[in-house]
Amino acid sequence: MRIALFGDIHANLEALEAVLKDAVEQGCTDYVCMGDIVGYNANPVACLEKVREMGCPVVKGNHDEDASGEHSLENMNPVAATALEWTRKQLKPEHRDWLRNLRMVRQVENFTVVHSTLDQPQAWHYVTNKFDAMSNFSYQFTNLCFHGHTHVPRIFARDSRVSEIEADTIVLEPGIKYFINTGSVGQPRDGDWRACYLSYDVASSLIRIHRVEYDLASTQEKIRAAGLPESLAERLSQGR
Ligand code: ZN
Repeated sequence: MRIALFGDIHANLEALEAVLKDAVEQGCTDYVCMGDIVGYNANPVACLEKVREMGCPVVKGNHDEDASGEHSLENMNPVAATALEWTRKQLKPEHRDWLRNLRMVRQVENFTVVHSTLDQPQAWHYVTNKFDAMSNFSYQFTNLCFHGHTHVPRIFARDSRVSEIEADTIVLEPGIKYFINTGSVGQPRDGDWRACYLSYDVASSLIRIHRVEYDLASTQEKIRAAGLPESLAERLSQGR
C-alpha cells in the first residue's frame, strides 16, 4: 500500500488537483489529510468538497477551526484574519459542521496524524526545530507520526536523542520514532513555490517528499478577483 499524505491546502484548488493527479501517477491508492483545508486562498468550498468526497481520514487544522467558528479573529495576523472572514462567508452551514466535527488526532494503519503536535494539539504549537519536536515525542505512542502546520516539510527522528534528517527520501528504521511534517499543498513556506506532499510505501517503509508544479497564475488571479489581500497572491510565487 502506498499512502499520499497531504495537508495545508488552504483553499488552493489548482495545487490540490495537481497533487492528487501526481499521487495517482506515483502509485498512491490511499490518502490522509493533515488539515487546514481552507483559509488564505480563494477556493475553500471546492477544496473542502473535494477532500470530503475522497472520504479519507482528515484531522482538524487551526484554519479549519477558525473558519467554522464565530469567535473573534482580532488577535490574529490581519491578513490571515481578513482571509478567514472572507472564508466564513463562502462556507454553508453544512461545510462549517463538517469542519467543526473533524478530529484533532487520528490513528491510521501504524501511524498517528495531527495538524500541529501531540502534546497539546489544541494549542497549535509550531515545530521548527528539534527542540520543539521533543515535547511531541513524549506524547507519540506510535513509531510514526505525520503533521503539518508550519508549511515546511521536515523529518525529525528520535532514538537516544532527537535529530532532524535532511533528505527527500528516507527508509524508516525499526526502533526509531519519526515525526514528519508533510509540507503544504497550497501555500509552501520553504522558498519552493511548488505544491508539497509525501508518499509512504508501507511495505518498504519508504517515505518520499514530492514537489508538484501547478497553475499558479490561475490561483493568483482568483485571489485578486475575490478581493483578498494582494500579499496572499504574491507570497505563493515566492514559496513564503
Ligand atoms: Zn496551515
